Amino acid sequence: MADNGVVEEDSKTKKIEEKAETEEQFCQTEGCDKPAALQCPTCIKLSIAGSFFCSQDCFKGFWGTHKLVHKKTSSYNPWPSFKFTGPLRPAPVTPTRSVPSHISRPDYSEDGVPRSERLAKSSGQIKQLSPREIKAMRKTGR
Ligand SMILES: [Zn+2]
Ligand SMILES: [Zn+2]
Repeated sequence: MADNGVVEEDSKTKKIEEKAETEEQFCQTEGCDKPAALQCPTCIKLSIAGSFFCSQDCFKGFWGTHKLVHKKTSSYNPWPSFKFTGPLRPAPVTPTRSVPSHISRPDYSEDGVPRSERLAKSSGQIKQLSPREIKAMRKTGR
């Protein structure tokens, strides 16, 4: 069962990847502690260091616990060498979204000059709202 809306990864379809490391690594499976040269492929993709396993069987056996580390890390990291101290992580900047054409725009949307507002201020008159406008204003201000 997938929890938190995260797509469940299947350890059966995953093949662990071999990685040559100069520094000796040990199996991540609790109570195993054998020297390990196999690294979780998902962790490699997400740049999570130290996810080594001694064997395919250990990887499969510990998968249920191990996969949780994948959820904590986003694959986006513009500063791979930066040591984060808290849980906040950078996120990619998405393209600016445009306002749909059916939504009417204020006059300052074109060039940033609030013409109608300036006119209203210089006229010296305070606009009196109609009962319908008062109702709408009350709803908006809620
Ligand atoms: Zn992993
Ligand atoms: Zn092991």
